[in-house]
Amino acid sequence: MDSVRIFDTTLRDGEQSPGFSMNTEEKIRMARQLAALGVDVIEAGFPISSRGDLEAVQQVAREVRTVPIAALARAKKQDVNAAIEALEPAAAPRLHIFLATSDLHLRVKLNMTREQALEAISSMIRLGRNHVGEVEFSAEDAGRTDIGFLCQVCQVAVDAGATVLNLPDTVGYAVPDEYGAMFEQVRAHLDDPQGITLSAHCHDDLGLAVANSLAAVRAGVRQIECTVNGIGERAGNAALEEIAVALAVRKESFGVTTNIKLDELFHSSRMLSEITGAAVAPNKAVVGANAFAHEAGIHQDGIIKNPLTYEIISPETVGVPSRSFVLGKHSGRNALKVALRNLGYEPSEEELAECYRRVTTLADEAKQVRPRDLVAIAHEVMRRRPTTVAAEASSAA
Ligand SMILES: [Zn+2]
Repeated sequence: MDSVRIFDTTLRDGEQSPGFSMNTEEKIRMARQLAALGVDVIEAGFPISSRGDLEAVQQVAREVRTVPIAALARAKKQDVNAAIEALEPAAAPRLHIFLATSDLHLRVKLNMTREQALEAISSMIRLGRNHVGEVEFSAEDAGRTDIGFLCQVCQVAVDAGATVLNLPDTVGYAVPDEYGAMFEQVRAHLDDPQGITLSAHCHDDLGLAVANSLAAVRAGVRQIECTVNGIGERAGNAALEEIAVALAVRKESFGVTTNIKLDELFHSSRMLSEITGAAVAPNKAVVGANAFAHEAGIHQDGIIKNPLTYEIISPETVGVPSRSFVLGKHSGRNALKVALRNLGYEPSEEELAECYRRVTTLADEAKQVRPRDLVAIAHEVMRRRPTTVAAEASSAA
């Protein structure tokens, strides 16, 4: 089966978004976890942006030896030189050069003609290749670039020595079928070249970053650029954990594998939250606090009978300690029975009915019933100690 490489840009695209900056020590800590997670490339920074960022990339490159380290550069001599300097200690360096190729960006932002753009792409990739074995080129705003010119850009980049072609939807404007078709056209134009990897990089402005990335995989893309928790510019990048789990759960459909160790996903997500102080939304796919929590009685009952009824991924698969049943006003008797049993109580039918009546009354007032509330209710109703000693914290609430 074909493998899709996961290019993590948490420490670059993620880090450069408001509220997510990290110091060198934090970058190293996160980079080590990314290596444990099994990502194929770690983009560690944008060295021209500051001396501190350049040194952070160097430190990450010294500390993490098992994963290729990438550094970003505009198609400018001073950027490329800074990135080369930053990558000098890397065991497996990757120079990542980008230039915007849409007419809007060329005219308004760069004041360049298409010919000047092609010349800059070619000369900077050649400069990079003289110092670094692997050069990736990104056509910024590829999603809004004239397809004919984009094909020309890709050919020039390949001729200059780039081996990875990244075609980002920089502004999160693309929709899946369109984004996939762009890659198909580029592949056809380049005649499916051996040794060249096409790469997707999507932003979530329309909530489509993951869907667009998966459409790119269907169109033959074999590298996806993404971030832990989907952090990144504006609405963020495609979320690494969602892509990895989608490709694993729907393996039959996509026919590809990744090197991601799924059971490291939850830990990676929590480490990033802890470092940046930015919490993950409770309803976030895969790693949100509610991703494996069930409150509705019908759902709790189904899960107890067989988790497949309401879960397509088990919590253990992605490293979540355990699923949780929330005891609230929507909960059912069966979940309450399991919660009581976890606390060591074996209620009779009448006792269960009485506990249920009290739990729902309390839930109406307090929204959620905490483990110690449940213990108090059970103790009062059953007038006896638990039959077995179980930790109060065990998944009762
Ligand atoms: Zn980006």
